Amino acid sequence: MDYTILVNKQNLLSRNFVPDNLVEVHEPTGSKLDKTYVNRLNPQAYKAFKDMQADALKAGYEIFIDSSYRSFEYQERVFNDVALKKGLAYAQNFVAAPGASEHQTGLAIDIIFRRNAQMVENQQEDDPEIKWLFQNAHQYGFILRYPKGKEKVTGFNFEPWHFRYVGKKLATKIFTSNITLEEYYNLSTN
Ligand SMILES: [Zn+2]
Repeated sequence: MDYTILVNKQNLLSRNFVPDNLVEVHEPTGSKLDKTYVNRLNPQAYKAFKDMQADALKAGYEIFIDSSYRSFEYQERVFNDVALKKGLAYAQNFVAAPGASEHQTGLAIDIIFRRNAQMVENQQEDDPEIKWLFQNAHQYGFILRYPKGKEKVTGFNFEPWHFRYVGKKLATKIFTSNITLEEYYNLSTN
């Protein structure tokens, strides 16, 4: 698995793309989208997450994975559900189309956290748990994939809960340069 793979609205994964060696992630929550959902993740990304989770806990923050691998078909179902309920324009704006979600790589995670024994489902950028992740995730190989102010570059709205494993080296480069994965690829191909 290439940890630096770029997936977005212009670089789609095929219906047949299923990552190798996904491991089941045992977390105290399932996805917000579907309660029967089972979290699965790339093993290296999961190991990195466990390290990050342990260090977050030392800092006083209880973070968990809410959503990880999603198949093409799963994303298709979510997209179609939203399009049916709220219209196609809304779905195109707020839900990745099938093939455009990097959750299909098994390298992306949506974070949820627990505070005062309660799971907090509406993660915001000023939550201390999220702030801790913004500052530290790169040390474990994760980047904030859809940052604020980069919506036109990534093609996605700001998602303070969505992190992507790219490996420590690239994560650190992206963090210190304050760029996105798209900009990293433009820079290196120009
Ligand atoms: Zn996500």
